[in-house]
Amino acid sequence: VLWGNIFRVRLRRIFREVRIRVADINSNVENSIQGIREVQSYAKEGYAIDRFNDVNNEFKTAKSTMYHHMAGFHSGMMFFLEFYSVLIIGGGMLLVHAGRLELVELIGFLMYRRYMFQPIRRLTGFMEQYQQGAAAFERFAEIMDEEPDIADRPDAKPLQQQVSGEICFDQVSFKYEPDAPTWVLEDVTLTVPPGQTVALVGESGAGKSSLAALIPRFYEPQQGHIRLDGEDIMGVKMQDLRRHVGIVQQNVFLFDTTIRENILFGRPDASEAELHEAARRAHIYDYIVSLPNGFDSLVGERGVKLSGGQKQRISIARLFLKDPPILIFDEATSSLDSESEALIKQSMESLCRGRSTLVIAHRFSTVRNAHYTYVLRHGRIVEHGTHSDLVAAGGYYYDLYNRNVL
Ligand code: ADP
Repeated sequence: VLWGNIFRVRLRRIFREVRIRVADINSNVENSIQGIREVQSYAKEGYAIDRFNDVNNEFKTAKSTMYHHMAGFHSGMMFFLEFYSVLIIGGGMLLVHAGRLELVELIGFLMYRRYMFQPIRRLTGFMEQYQQGAAAFERFAEIMDEEPDIADRPDAKPLQQQVSGEICFDQVSFKYEPDAPTWVLEDVTLTVPPGQTVALVGESGAGKSSLAALIPRFYEPQQGHIRLDGEDIMGVKMQDLRRHVGIVQQNVFLFDTTIRENILFGRPDASEAELHEAARRAHIYDYIVSLPNGFDSLVGERGVKLSGGQKQRISIARLFLKDPPILIFDEATSSLDSESEALIKQSMESLCRGRSTLVIAHRFSTVRNAHYTYVLRHGRIVEHGTHSDLVAAGGYYYDLYNRNVL
């Protein structure tokens, strides 16, 4: 019991350490594989291997410490058990010699000893397994106990069924780290009227994506209010809010499954006719039906390789099915081939119609088509108006326009 107790804490600690090291290896491998293009293009294979070796060495060190402790524990246990046998044989022999014990009694005693030591051996094995399991369970429990940073308030209300889609930012200030010295967004006030398209422009790092991420509550502002149809979104059920918001991102993520499932992700119970209609409106229908397996073609690793523009149109088809009253559109910075670009423009225009749209604009032509524009600089709205107002004002926007930096 004493020996077991000495090793109990050490074993638990090292089993835990080994689990952490395995997690490090996994994340290192995942990172290297995700970034394989960067590694190759910078010819940094050696660097990636060195980094893997570092985490692997730490894992090896932890593993060898683990075996060291296990060996100490087991060999100590064995030593005690065998030492008792020597004591019993030695002491028994002396007693037999002195005539105080029969030889048969000593042999009998030695046989009983076996019955007693067997369970002790088993308990030793069990203790080791128990510590290993307990260390793993502790880590599992830590992950399961993790609370999401952003959760529904206890008194969160469902959203009314009919949402017109007016979004108002009222003196919103936000930073990612609560103790960061500067705001990422400061005192932002803007309105996206129902059914209208509002463009957001500014140089890279101005805070455009951060502002857009506040609408579906991926983050929460520290100051001010964001209202949807006059209702503070903090008090609304998150699922309800997100059901009403559609996002078109620059980098579209498609699941490793069929095109059909990828589009139906927007609304799994949509009919075949609705699916086709959504694909048509996203200008991707003709391409899909030209594939040998049509809508059942697989995308990703084992299926058809889609271009950036095709992926984006599939994500737009998804949104036609979801049919949200509010849209956030992060326009691609890199230019797509001109055919894709024209098709995306057409499908986005028809998607935006009648929806409140906030577009992070990277082209002045997009700003021209928007109803209204806000200009962000270092997290603050410095100008707002229509494209022609802003050009006429001759301020920061005019400067961006002249330098052609969007
Ligand atoms: P834009 O979309 O205009 O290029 P962003 O909203 O991406 O600008 O970034 C605004 C600022 O917020 C930048 O200084 C950026 O470094 C910071 N930032 C962006 N995302 C995060 C994040 N997830 N965590 C911490 N800081 C971030």
